[in-house]
Amino acid sequence: MFCKHCQHYIREDSRFCPRCGVRLRSEPAQDPPWLWICTILLFAVIWATLVRDQLEVQFLHLRAEINSLLSAL
Ligand SMILES: [Zn+2]
Repeated sequence: MFCKHCQHYIREDSRFCPRCGVRLRSEPAQDPPWLWICTILLFAVIWATLVRDQLEVQFLHLRAEINSLLSAL
């Protein structure tokens, strides 16, 4: 193939033109892994917060039941 920039002939699998140095093929856009890590961590924090709230609610219900049972004795 030929370089679009300088029309120099270059190999098909070249990524850069050896003559003018222009990039020939755009590499597939990849999200940096830290973005995924941050996203997963964020969801983990949100999930943990939700589960903790639910556990607190269940604990309060359980304590109320125990109190009512104890007061019935
Ligand atoms: Zn070129």
